[in-house]
Amino acid sequence: MGSRISRRRFLTVAGGVATAIPLGSVGDATGEQLGSQEHAATPSNHPDRIVDMHIHFDEKNSNFISDLVTLAQRINLTACLLTPYPHRVQVAEAAKQYPTQIVPFGFVDLDASDVLSQVKDFHALGYRGLGELEFVKKPYVDASYLPVYELANQYGWVLLFHTGIVLRRSVDQPENVASYRMRAFHLEEIARRFPKLTVIGAHCGNPEYEWAAEVARWNPNVFFDLSGSTLTKMSARLEEFKKLFWWSGQGEWKTATPANDESAFIKLVFGSDAGLDGIEHVVSQYRSLFKSCDVPPSTQQMIMGGTLAGILRL
Ligand SMILES: [Zn+2]
Repeated sequence: MGSRISRRRFLTVAGGVATAIPLGSVGDATGEQLGSQEHAATPSNHPDRIVDMHIHFDEKNSNFISDLVTLAQRINLTACLLTPYPHRVQVAEAAKQYPTQIVPFGFVDLDASDVLSQVKDFHALGYRGLGELEFVKKPYVDASYLPVYELANQYGWVLLFHTGIVLRRSVDQPENVASYRMRAFHLEEIARRFPKLTVIGAHCGNPEYEWAAEVARWNPNVFFDLSGSTLTKMSARLEEFKKLFWWSGQGEWKTATPANDESAFIKLVFGSDAGLDGIEHVVSQYRSLFKSCDVPPSTQQMIMGGTLAGILRL
């Protein structure tokens, strides 16, 4: 199979849809006519473009937007920028000015009493999804969170969830925080109940990688990033990821994938979760993973940007 053709087909089909679309729909739509595929050859979906699902807006850096744009132009990167509510207008305007460098995502607290109105405000400003959802007071599948997912589902949005172990912000003050509420397997129920969502788990469920991989395998609208400590922790044993993402080429054990990619690693997307000075290091960590696990070049391109470019119509 010509994977490059398949990728272009994926991008072309994705480009005809009004909002972000789940991968299941992409898989269903691959039979559509491909006459406009030449339009896919724009700089923003160049095969070498990196799309970073996981960049937090840095409220401490007053030059953050210009610093981000400078870096993004230098390394050919599109940032999914996870934006706190007070900065929503600033980032919306930056995204209009630099559409190749910035894709706006809204950072909300799922437990906030006005979370639904915040989500609607983000949507009205052209935001493309929510993230990083984290530090929840109840498990992700709690009924009180479902209206947020329902609304996001109507929008056809991408949601980025923290999964797995979470840092401790304070050791001398009580915190209502627990990692188990953010376990990767909760994403399965969200993805199934809300099939127009694209559900992305940050950190691949660290340390429950096996659950993360299996949930991704059976759910075409679930992906994971490998940001955080995992690629450092596993740096001397990266080949172990082949045991977790085991179903490459075994069609009967997978569901629809972007570009019909046969590699199990297609369920990963790039995310750095690093400061602007740390993104290139995470890129090199992903490259090391690809080498250790013999990830095909076409799949590498999809992980580093092609999959998200298709979903987000970049
Ligand atoms: Zn996180």
